[in-house]
Amino acid sequence: MADFVIGDMDMEYATTVADRAIRLMSQQSVPATPSNFSVWFEYAMGTSPALRKTIDILIGNKRKFDAAINYELYVTYVNPQYGLAVKGDFPERLRGVITNATQFLTTAIADNRTQIEALGEVSSEAQASGDPQAIIERLVTELSNATARATALELNFEASTQELDRIRNSLKEAEQRSNTDALTGLANRRSLDEFLRSAQIVAMEKGEPLSVLLIDIDHFKDFNDTFGHQVGDQVLRLVAKVLQENVRDQDLAARYGGEELFAVLPGADLDVCAGVAERIRGRISDARLTRRTTGLEISSVTVSIGVAQFKLAESAEAMIERCDRALYRAKRSGRNKTVTENDIEGEVVAAA
Ligand code: GH3
Ligand code: MG
Ligand code: MG
Repeated sequence: MADFVIGDMDMEYATTVADRAIRLMSQQSVPATPSNFSVWFEYAMGTSPALRKTIDILIGNKRKFDAAINYELYVTYVNPQYGLAVKGDFPERLRGVITNATQFLTTAIADNRTQIEALGEVSSEAQASGDPQAIIERLVTELSNATARATALELNFEASTQELDRIRNSLKEAEQRSNTDALTGLANRRSLDEFLRSAQIVAMEKGEPLSVLLIDIDHFKDFNDTFGHQVGDQVLRLVAKVLQENVRDQDLAARYGGEELFAVLPGADLDVCAGVAERIRGRISDARLTRRTTGLEISSVTVSIGVAQFKLAESAEAMIERCDRALYRAKRSGRNKTVTENDIEGEVVAAA
């Protein structure tokens, strides 16, 4: 039969090394995680004199192989990339898990083969000698070896799964960050564009209405000039909070630009959306803002809002453009107002 080759390594040699590694790990009470296994595999193989010396000294000093030491050994001698990877380099971390799992699996397969061969030998001996006591002892030894290895394998996979879970969570957090505006906590422009695109498709498929509203804070420049940019930022956060609180879970509230906020309301027609806009406008103009430092009231904040409803098959830009014109009308007619696209009908003919 042709010899299996693991990378450049002979199958039987790999099995012997893996055996030795597992035995040593068990003697030193090292948990059978993928990274620990690769450290001790390397140690058992003896290809890294520095690793060998370090571990020998640790054993000589009767040091306990705790999580910190195991991590240091792994990062220093096996996978220096890992130390950097933990800080957010997902591809590297994933590659680490996959490499470890592959290495362990390959060894496990080799191991299995040796096991089967050993059992085959027991069976031949049984036919030849017939000493039941010796045969049973051999069988028990082989089976308990197999159990020990299966347990190590199981632990290894548990650790790999946990690491994959951690990577998955980190990715989810990173994705969340990349879709969120840092100042207001609302969806950012990128995620708004994406949401709007799929909301338009759903609206067309279901034949349901879809409306949007665009909010712009009134005289915000003056506000910044009077109270400072930081107070301005707080006001922006307040407006964002009121917006978020007044839309449903299925809606999307986003920061459109500097002090312009946007909301997409799937299933809402122009009237419903105008109602939501009016509620938001009212809540903001009723809010009483006081400066934390002085306790004095800040001049009231108002917003103007434009509202538009999606027309079948039109582009997002065309709809936003109507919404923007409605907002412009709200500004021109005195601010602190909600204006819908119906209110500006006939004002300007939209470009096709
Ligand atoms: P109006 O909209 O009523 O016509 O007047 P405005 O003064 O608000 O005019 P405009 O909307 O053009 O002004 C935008 C101002 O918003 C400019 C800038 O000072 C302010 N701004 C934009 N982004 C931010 C931000 O992130 N933080 C703060 N504090 N201010 C911002
Ligand atoms: Mg503006
Ligand atoms: Mg403004």
